[in-house]
Amino acid sequence: MTRVYNFAAGPAAIPEWVLKKAQAEMLDYHESGMSVMEMSHRSAEFKEIIDNAKASLRRLMDIPEDYDILFLQGGGSTQFFMVALNLLQNGADIIDTGQWTKKAIKEQKKIGYVHVAASSKEDNYTYIPKIKQEDLDPKTDYVYICENNTIFGTKYKQLPPHDGKLLVADLSSCICSEPVDVTKYDLIFAGAQKNMGPAGVTIVILKKELLDRADQDKLPSMLSYKVHAEKDSMFNTPPTWGIYMVGLTCQWLEEVIGGLENMEKINQRKAKKLYDYIDNSKLYTNNVNKEDRSLMNVPFVTGDDELDKKFVAEAKKAGIANIKGHRSVGGMRASIYNAVTEEAVDYLIDFMKKFEKENA
Ligand code: PLP
Repeated sequence: MTRVYNFAAGPAAIPEWVLKKAQAEMLDYHESGMSVMEMSHRSAEFKEIIDNAKASLRRLMDIPEDYDILFLQGGGSTQFFMVALNLLQNGADIIDTGQWTKKAIKEQKKIGYVHVAASSKEDNYTYIPKIKQEDLDPKTDYVYICENNTIFGTKYKQLPPHDGKLLVADLSSCICSEPVDVTKYDLIFAGAQKNMGPAGVTIVILKKELLDRADQDKLPSMLSYKVHAEKDSMFNTPPTWGIYMVGLTCQWLEEVIGGLENMEKINQRKAKKLYDYIDNSKLYTNNVNKEDRSLMNVPFVTGDDELDKKFVAEAKKAGIANIKGHRSVGGMRASIYNAVTEEAVDYLIDFMKKFEKENA
């Protein structure tokens, strides 16, 4: 068996500890005689799995009791409009930082008034716009951001001002990469397939007081946070396997890594090594404003499309998978999520050095 060094943007690498534990429990979960995949979501075993996953995430992220944790389906893309269906009364202020906010703007416009408070589009999204309270439309209900921009490799280091408004954040590509103060947000959502497990489950963390905002008579049940919260994410058949894997990932973060402070230190070390190397290299560049650089997604280019293609092809031969950049940016992108080890980053840097020597 050969495992590659996987730098995929999502679905992405999963910690080997998690995969091995899932493998060990695959045929017979805790003497139930069946796999988690084969289990009724109403069984006592599954109830324990979902309760443990939630409790572990609550401990890890220090989520206060006045916030609910939901495990939903439909990906981040459903949250783009579900947040508006549940929260938007007068309007939304959205800060445009790339593909994933463009989509959120498009979807939320179908539901109500959207004010784009700022955008870094004119510079191909290489920075996070710094906004002031005056840039917001006074009549909107919330400010919406994508905290880590998976494609462009930018990340908010400071949350935008939002006096008198709710704050809604897409943490799909940075959840649990570092500690966050959950109380600063009103709603956080994240697809699991980058830092939390496999595709198919979306985590929503929201203030309980928001559950009563929408007119429930007009909201389809599956799109109502209140319905899912009241049924403990079991209104319909939940993504049971994904929830189990999220639970194992949380267990890994708590027991193996030792919590999000430690995870952040490891992620800082990994990212620093890679950015330092790129910044000192004559071949590669990362075009992102330094202070806005992501810890999780590191795009880089050689400046020559043919050479980029050669890099991707040779990297693949060397056991480096999914290093090609997103089509809107080109070049390469190393997604160095929690599950990507320091050893993998060292291996990538060694490969980059060798390629630079041979092609500079
Ligand atoms: N938000 C961010 C930051 C993403 O990176 C992605 C996908 O990569 C999405 C949302 C969309 O998620 P999904 O494909 O689960 O709908």
